[in-house]
This record gives sequence, C-alpha cells and structure tokens, in this order.
Amino acid sequence: MWTNYPKPRLVISACLLGENTRYDGNPIVFPLIQKLSKFCEFVKVCPEVDIGLPVPRDRIIVYRKEEKLGVFQPAKKRDLTEEMLNFSKKFLENLKDIDGFLLKSRSPSCGVSGTRWYKDREGTFPIGRGKGLFAIEAEKMFPEIPVEDDGRLHDPFIRENFLTKIFSLADLREFSTTAESLKDLIVFHQRYKYLLMSYSPEGLKKLGQLVASGNKFPFNQTLQKYKTLFKKVLSQPPTKGKVTNVFLHVFGHFSSKLTPGEKKHFLWLIERYKKGKVSKNTLLEILRAWTFRFEDHYLKNQVFLNPYPLELE
Ligand code: SF4
Repeated sequence: MWTNYPKPRLVISACLLGENTRYDGNPIVFPLIQKLSKFCEFVKVCPEVDIGLPVPRDRIIVYRKEEKLGVFQPAKKRDLTEEMLNFSKKFLENLKDIDGFLLKSRSPSCGVSGTRWYKDREGTFPIGRGKGLFAIEAEKMFPEIPVEDDGRLHDPFIRENFLTKIFSLADLREFSTTAESLKDLIVFHQRYKYLLMSYSPEGLKKLGQLVASGNKFPFNQTLQKYKTLFKKVLSQPPTKGKVTNVFLHVFGHFSSKLTPGEKKHFLWLIERYKKGKVSKNTLLEILRAWTFRFEDHYLKNQVFLNPYPLELE
C-alpha cells in the first residue's frame, strides 16, 4: 500500500493560515489547513500586504473596463492594478517546485471563485462574480497545476481532485529528481495505471506507448516527455463514467475469487455510485479491503486506491 506519501508544496493565502492579513483584521478558520499542514509544505503569500497595504485597510474592488480587469481602492481613490500585476508576476516567476495553490475565496486578489466584479472603479455597479487578479495570474503562469480556493474545496468532488493532483504532482516531481533509468519509470507508470485511466484512458495509452518505446531514446528525453504528458492528462478532471470503468477493471482482478453475493453487492454499489447515492470512497474501501484479503501487491500499490493520506478524507 502506498503510504510513503510525497510532500506537496502549496502556495497558500496567508490569511488561511490564520495570519492577521485581511482587510478587516479578522482571522479565518479553515479546518482543512490544520490537516494539510501535517502533509504539505506551505509557501505563503498575501498579495495585498505584499504591495504595502496596511491591516486593517479600506476595501479594494475588482473592476472591468473594456475587457481588462483592474483593482481599485475607492476610499483612497487609488488604482492598484499595476502594483498588483507587477507583484504577482515577480512572485510567480520566482516560484520553484510548486504542486498547487490554495487561495482565499471571494478576495479581489486571491479569489478563484466568488470575487465580485464591478463595472465602475467605485464599486457601485456589480456585473457578476469571477476571480481575483493574483489568482488569474497564477492560473496563467501554471496552467497544469491546480489553483483552488477554500470555498470551492467544500465540494467533495473538487476537494478530492485537488488532493489527488497535488499528491500526484509532488510524487512526479520527487520521482524525477531520483529516477535513473527506464526501469524506474516503468515501475512509476505501473503504480499510476488506474489513476491515469480514471482521468483519461487515451492519455494512459499514450503514456504507455512512450514508456514502451523508451529504450530507443536517451532516458532524460523520455522522462521529460512523460512529465509533460502526465501533467496534461491530470489537467482534465475524471468523470463518473471513467471512474466506474476503473472500478470495473479493478473488480475484474478479484471477481473469480469472490462469492456470487459479494459480486452482486459490489455491482449494485457501482450502480448506486453512478446515481450519486454512494460515495467513491465506499467503493474504494471495499477494493482496498480485497487487496489485503487476497494479498494483491500490484493493486495495493495502485495510487488510484490510495491517492492521498486517509486523514485528509
Ligand atoms: S485573501 Fe489574499 S490578499 Fe486577502 S488577506 Fe488573504 S492572503 Fe491577503
């Protein structure tokens, strides 16, 4: 069983860590942070304090003018767009070995969702909700790395996908610093077979072909191509249909050893899962139990069955 988890490096909004950086000076409590702190390394950022704004401060807002976004502080009549963009670019360019971003929702700087946008710089006429300026720049610069906020992580599907991706990307990053030969890559790829299948069966096939033809090229060249394609495959979230397909594949490993009642029950649970009545974890738990009961080492090592530490569920 994969228990030796890598340590994802996450860029995180300072206020989510409980730091006193918000415009109103009030702290935030986000329980997942405490759990994550046991397993991740944080790189904190507060774009507003980092451009020199005090705590507490007058609110700033996002405005849109001729398709361009800006940030403005109405009480001080101060346009902060250039400062915010310059800071964001410099900060993001200097980041190394990052596996994800966890930012504060609804913020004019950090929000990945729910940030109010206005059509005027005074913040009088709202035109809808979108993202903050720092979050937009982060997504632009790191298109294959998950950028989420605390609000979106309340959705179990988004949370699970985020956790799966940050641990997989950290694993790939750590693996690529120690990998020495094609043999290492074959072992890595085997562990990810079912996880990759749940994201994209076509992507899994392409990665498999890359590994299979690896002996025709220098190892570093194959590794670089593998990393690029692996990140691309993970950038499209899995669907219920693809996950169901993987459940059936894994179930296929055990079906000849199960009783008719066990098989019937598992297939019934899959139908319930497809209708949203049973969680993915319920099915994973059964499959994990079978890997122990039948001592299936190949499946015990499949990342699909243990994508991140159970304490984070
Ligand atoms: S949301 Fe972002 S800019 Fe606002 S206080 Fe938190 S870290 Fe700072």
